[in-house]
Amino acid sequence: MEVSFKKEIEQLRLGDGETFHGEGILAITKALLQSGVSYIGGYQGAPVSHLLDVMVQAKDLVAGLGVHVEACANEASAAAMLGASIHYPVRGAVTWKSIVGTNVAADALANLASPGVTGGVLMVIGEDYGEGASVVQERTHAYAMKSTLLLLDPRPELQTMVDMVEHAFAMSEASNMPAMMELRIRACHVRGSFSCRDNRRPAVSALAPLAEPGRFDYGRLAHPPSTFRHEKLKVDERLPAARRYIVEQGLNELHPGRHAELGIIVQGGLTPALLRSLQQFGLADAFGESEIPLLVLNVTYPLVPEQVAQLAEGKRAVLVVEEGSPEYIEHEIATHLRRRDLQTALHGKDMLPAVGELNTEAIIGGLLAFVQRYLPPAHAAPVAAMLAATRERRQQAAARLDAALPTRPPGFCVGCPERPVFSAIKLAQQEVGPLHIAADIGCHSFATFEPFSLGHSILGYGMSLASRAGVSPMMERRVLSIMGDGGFWHNGLLTGVQSALFNGDDAVLLIFKNGYTSATGTQDLISTPGKNAKAMAVDKLASLTASNRTIEDTLSGLGVQWLRTVHSYRVAAMRDVIREAMTTPFNGLKVIVAEGECQLERQRRVRPWLASLLARGERVVRVKYGVDEDVCNGDHACMRLSGCPTLTLKDNPDPLKVDPVATVIDGCVGCGLCGENAHAATLCPSFYRAEVVQNPRWHERAIDAVRSLALRLLQPA
Ligand code: SF4
Ligand code: SF4
Repeated sequence: MEVSFKKEIEQLRLGDGETFHGEGILAITKALLQSGVSYIGGYQGAPVSHLLDVMVQAKDLVAGLGVHVEACANEASAAAMLGASIHYPVRGAVTWKSIVGTNVAADALANLASPGVTGGVLMVIGEDYGEGASVVQERTHAYAMKSTLLLLDPRPELQTMVDMVEHAFAMSEASNMPAMMELRIRACHVRGSFSCRDNRRPAVSALAPLAEPGRFDYGRLAHPPSTFRHEKLKVDERLPAARRYIVEQGLNELHPGRHAELGIIVQGGLTPALLRSLQQFGLADAFGESEIPLLVLNVTYPLVPEQVAQLAEGKRAVLVVEEGSPEYIEHEIATHLRRRDLQTALHGKDMLPAVGELNTEAIIGGLLAFVQRYLPPAHAAPVAAMLAATRERRQQAAARLDAALPTRPPGFCVGCPERPVFSAIKLAQQEVGPLHIAADIGCHSFATFEPFSLGHSILGYGMSLASRAGVSPMMERRVLSIMGDGGFWHNGLLTGVQSALFNGDDAVLLIFKNGYTSATGTQDLISTPGKNAKAMAVDKLASLTASNRTIEDTLSGLGVQWLRTVHSYRVAAMRDVIREAMTTPFNGLKVIVAEGECQLERQRRVRPWLASLLARGERVVRVKYGVDEDVCNGDHACMRLSGCPTLTLKDNPDPLKVDPVATVIDGCVGCGLCGENAHAATLCPSFYRAEVVQNPRWHERAIDAVRSLALRLLQPA
C-alpha cells in the first residue's frame, strides 16, 4: 500500500496531557493504545479502514509497546482472533465494516459471546448505513441482541469517543461480554481534539509472553452442555453486570430540560443531528443545551430499564430517535414501560422516517409532528414553513437538474485495468450470445453501471462463483462469474472454487488480478506483486504473475485444470479466451486470470518517480492517445465500448456536421485501451497514439526541427 500515514502515526505517539487534533477514527485508534490492548486485527472497509491501515504502518510504534497487529484474511478470522481473550486477561480490538463484515464474522462472534471473555474485547464497527452507504441496509444492533454483545454508539465528539473506548474494555471485563462500537461515517470523519494519556504497555504481550497456556476448562468452550450454562449466565449475570457498569460510570447521559413533561431518547451517534434539529424549533441553544430532557444512549445495548423509567416517569410523552428499521430500541423501551405500567405516550417511528439516514432534515420532520402535538404552536409554525420551503426548493432544483444533467454513476478510474476486460466481455457476447453474469463486490462492480450494464446478481464478497451454482444447471449457455483477487482470498477460494471443483461443475470464473484490495484503499494481499518488481514501475503490461504466482499456484494445487492468464489490456486476446472458455468441450471449472495492476496504485508510484526524473533533467516519455477530429465519424461506438471518463465529446469543428466528435482530454494516462478497442472491435481509424517526450536528447531536437521545417514548407501560408 503506497498511501503514507506518517503524520497520523505521529499523533499516536502523543503522551499525557498533550492535545490530539484530528479525525474520529484516528482518535479511536489512539484510544486503543491508551487502553493497553495486547493485539489488534481486522479487515478493511469504509468507514473504518484507516484504523487498520494506520496500525499496519505503525509497526515500530506498536512493536515497542508489545502490541501484535494482524491484517486478517476476512472478518471471520478477525472475530476468531478475539478468542485470545476468552482464557487470558488480555485486551484485544478488531475492526471491520458492517453489516457485511459482521455477517461474515457471525459464526465466530456467537462462539465468542457464548463462553464470554476474561480480557476486554472491542470490535470497532463501521456502521455503513444511510444514503451513500455501499452495503445492504441493515443494522448491527440485531447481532448485539442475538449474541448478547455490548453495543456502544458514542456521541461523536472526540473526548466522548475516546472515553467510551476505554469504558468499553472495562465494561467488557466487568460483564464478560464482548463489546462492539458502531461508528457511522460522520463519526469516523468528525474532527476535533481531546486530551491524551500515555499509551499503555499491556501486562501480557509479545514483549511479555505467558510462560504457560491456560488450564483446561470445558466451561470456556462453546460446546454443549457448557452452552446451556452460558445462556443462563448471559441473562442472570452478564447483562446485569453490564447495566450496573453503565449506571455506575454514567455512560448514558441524562440531561434535564425546561419542558419536563416531555423527553427524548436518542442513539448517541445521532445526538448532534438531534440538537441541531431542536435548535430550529428554538428548543436548544448553540452549545447543545436542550429544553426537552434527553437520555443520550452511548450504550444502545443493553438498555437500562431504570434509566428509561427515570426519563419517562410522570411525562406526557417520550420520543425515541432511532435510525433504521426495525426499531429495536423503541420496541425494547415499549416493553420496559409496559412492564412498569407507565402510561407515558411513546413515539418514534410513527413520527420519524422508518428507513434511511436520520439527518437533520429527517429528524426535523419527525420532531415537527411531536412538537405540534405537545408544545405551543409558536415552536412549530416557523419550522413547518421552513421545511415546506426546503422541500419545494429541492423539488424545483431536482426538476431542473433532471432535465439538464445526465445521471453520473460512479465508475472505474481512468486507465483502470478492469475496464478493458468488460469491453472484451461485450465483444465476446457478440459471438457467443448474451451471458448470465454473476458479479461480486469490488471495483469491478462498477461494470453494473453504463456503458457496460453487466452483472445479474451480487450475493456478497467473493460469492460470485458460488452464487451461480443454482443458475448454471438451468442455462444452455455457460454462466460467467467475476471476482476480484480481494474477493478470491476473502471468501471465493473456498465458497466458490473448492465447491465447484468438488461438485465437478461446468463453470467459468474470471479473476481480476490487480494486486490489491483496491476498493477498500489498495491494501496488500498475499498475491500483491513483490515490491522489487522494478518493471512494474514503468511498464503497465508487466506481468504481475512473474512476481507473484500465488493465485495461479493455489488454483493448480487445488486441481483446476483449465487455467489461462491474459493481460487485462489485451482486449482481443481477452475476448478470444472468454469465447474459448464459453465454448470449449472441457467440462469442469475454467479460470481466466485477468492480470493488470490497479491503475490508482500504479499512478501513485509512477507519478513521483517521473517527477523525480524531470527534476533531474532526465528524458521522460509519456504516452497519450488522441482522436483525429477530421476522421471521427461521430457514432461514438468507442465510448459505448470503453466508458473512460477522459474519452469524451466536443463540438464538431466541421460547420457542415452537427454530431459532436470524440476527444481525449488531459487526464488520459495512456493505458492503451482506446487503441485496443479500435483494433479489437474494428472501429473507425480516428485514434492515434502519441509520445510526449520531455527533456529530449539532441538528436530528437534536431529531428523535430527538420520535421517542423518540412511541415511549414508543405503547408500553404
Ligand atoms: S482503484 Fe484500481 S481497480 Fe479500482 S477502479 Fe481504480 S484503477 Fe480500477
Ligand atoms: S488511452 Fe483511452 S481508455 Fe486509456 S486512459 Fe486514455 S482515453 Fe482513457
